[in-house]
Amino acid sequence: MAEISTRHAGIGMTSQRTRDRLIERLRAQGIRDEVVLAAMNAVPRHIFVDEAMASRAYDDVSLPLGFGQTISQPYIVARMIEIARDGKPLDRVLEIGTGCGYQAAVLAQVARKVYSVERVKPLYQRATACLNELGTTNVTLRYADGSVGWPEMAPFDGIIMAAAATHVPPALLEQLAPGGRMVLPLGAPEQSLCLIARTAQGYCETRIEPVRFVPLMMGKA
Ligand code: SAH
Repeated sequence: MAEISTRHAGIGMTSQRTRDRLIERLRAQGIRDEVVLAAMNAVPRHIFVDEAMASRAYDDVSLPLGFGQTISQPYIVARMIEIARDGKPLDRVLEIGTGCGYQAAVLAQVARKVYSVERVKPLYQRATACLNELGTTNVTLRYADGSVGWPEMAPFDGIIMAAAATHVPPALLEQLAPGGRMVLPLGAPEQSLCLIARTAQGYCETRIEPVRFVPLMMGKA
C-alpha cells in the first residue's frame, strides 16, 4: 500500500510541486475554468506514461504511448474539457480515443459518468489497469470502433473526440443530447478544434483554434 501511495503522490519530477507548475502554465495559456484546473491538479499524469518518461509527465507536451499513438498535451486535455463544460456540470460524457486513459481520468473528476471507447486493444487494457490503480469508479471503457459512438449508452451531454476526422461521424451527432456539446479536431491536413453545440433548432459549429491530433481510424485494431 505504502508503495502505491508513493507512486500516486510522486517524488522529484513527479511531485505535487511539479504538478502545481503545470497548473500555473495552464492558467498562463488561458485555461480559466477552476473546476478543470482542480481536476488537472488531482490526476497524476505520470501514472499514465511509461516509467522512462515519468520525469516529463508534467511538461506541457504530448508523449508517445506506443502503437503510433500519443498521450495528449495537458493544455489540450484541459481546453477540450473546459469547452465541453462551458462552466456547467457535466452528467454523461462520451470520449472517443481513450489512449492511456489520462483524459478519461480528468473527465471522471468533472462528470458524473464517463464512457470511453478505444480501438487498440493493448491501450484499452492499459487504460483499464491505470484507472483501476487510481480507484476511479465512474468510468466505463470499451474496446471498439468509436466512430459509431456508443448507442446503448446515449444520449450524452458531452462528447470529446481525441482523434481527428475530416467530417463529424453522423452517429456522434445523433448521440449528442439536445443542449449537449461535442468537442473534436476536424480537417486534414490542417486541423481545427471545433465545438458542435446541439440546440433545439439543430447543430451549431464553431472553430476554436488550430490543433494536431492523430487521425481517427476505422474498425478495431
Ligand atoms: N485521450 C487520450 C488521447 C489518445 S490519442 C489521452 O488522454 O491522452 C487518440 C486515441 O484515439 C488513440 O489511442 C487511438 O488509438 C484512438 N482512436 C483512433 N481512432 C479511433 C476509433 N475509431 N475508435 C476508438 N479509438 C480510436
